[in-house]
Amino acid sequence: MAVKKIKTIYDVVCPFCGTLCDDLEVDINNNEVIEVRNGCQIGVKKFFSSNPSEHRFEKPMIKVDGELKATTVEDAIEKAANILVNAKRPLLYGFSSTECDAQSVGVELAEVLGGILDNTASVCHGPTLLAEQDVGVSTSTLGEYKNRADLVIFWGCNPVHAHPRHLSRYSEFVRGYFRTDGRNDKYVVVIDPRNTHTAQIADLYIKVNPNEDYELLNALRAILRGVELDCEEVSGVPMENIKELVNVLKSCNFGVIFFGMGLTQTLAHHRNIDAAICLTRELNDHTKFLITPMRGHYNVTGANQVFTWNTGYAYSIDFSKGYPRYNPGEFSAVEVLIKDQIDASLIVASDPASNFPAASVKNMFKHPLIVIDPHETPTSAFADVLFPAAIAGIEAEGTAYRMDGIPLRLRKVKEAPGESLTDKEILEKLTEKVKEKLGEA
Ligand code: SF4
Repeated sequence: MAVKKIKTIYDVVCPFCGTLCDDLEVDINNNEVIEVRNGCQIGVKKFFSSNPSEHRFEKPMIKVDGELKATTVEDAIEKAANILVNAKRPLLYGFSSTECDAQSVGVELAEVLGGILDNTASVCHGPTLLAEQDVGVSTSTLGEYKNRADLVIFWGCNPVHAHPRHLSRYSEFVRGYFRTDGRNDKYVVVIDPRNTHTAQIADLYIKVNPNEDYELLNALRAILRGVELDCEEVSGVPMENIKELVNVLKSCNFGVIFFGMGLTQTLAHHRNIDAAICLTRELNDHTKFLITPMRGHYNVTGANQVFTWNTGYAYSIDFSKGYPRYNPGEFSAVEVLIKDQIDASLIVASDPASNFPAASVKNMFKHPLIVIDPHETPTSAFADVLFPAAIAGIEAEGTAYRMDGIPLRLRKVKEAPGESLTDKEILEKLTEKVKEKLGEA
């Protein structure tokens, strides 16, 4: 009978969502995850997804006669480097579900190739970054909100489903230093067109018409300044409820707005965030108020940080002129794909085929495709070269940035299967080979 030798690793950071919970306990036996404590359902599932299964890649593969065939790392690197060097305008996309060192090597590779470099912010919180560049931002850490906030607004987000432990660790069901009575010490407001599960456990739910958040934000700002609005409702919200909400906002001791893609990806996009930031700033004439985006992928904040350190820009970067240019909407992955302006793609730790518009995915599949991923995905199914990757935060160490910009150290709890390498190792080998082929090594 096999003897069980269970190893427990404590204080593990969960590499799933931007909450980056850092208190997980993971039991490993025989290099397999057998139990995860403290994580939410989606976080725990990610740890179990690292165990052997038919969906997990273990060997590099290249496409031969329309079928993926196992090969050596060297062959796969050679083929991938050829694709990239022969492309006039390659797209390097993804990076939000890997660690910062790998992201940094990705930036170097994009620069060497003169390609387009983008991360998933361009389809989620890119408008947040544009707004912050426009008007600045009054923000703080999740720990500060936990300890001080007595008013929490969730606008256009549903953390019960997307960031389940955000509520119990930082924003709703949590005792803080100055909020010792937990949920009783917090007043929770949800503003959303949908009566979400988060709305159902809030103290106040404001139902706003879809795509009319901008009008509501500016109505709140106007009333806050003492302007009398000559209408009965704004964005489907009766005027008396808007006035009541303004009183709630003004009368707290410490308020915070958490917002999601219900604000960033609806009509007005970054102008919604401009208005939300300005509302937050103006509320500071009355009380203390701050604002923080609910970032989705666990290290999309890190991708924005790393791209910015290296290039000056957080996403949607074009190196084709030999220096970085930034223009979301022109150099964003979806745009360049829809306009068929690229001729090869390298996708790192991402699955654009699952969430990009069909027209852009169709164009991506027209051209050579290199995928670095631990698992089978709709994107990897069409890869010409495929590298099996160790899962950062489970099978590789590294750094990730929480949604509030706090860097945390990811832990390695088990070995990656087969011939998997870390994203950083794969990208380093690829960069070295590309430089060699370009005569830059
Ligand atoms: Fe992981 Fe997010 Fe769940 Fe925390 S809330 S355990 S970071 S998925």
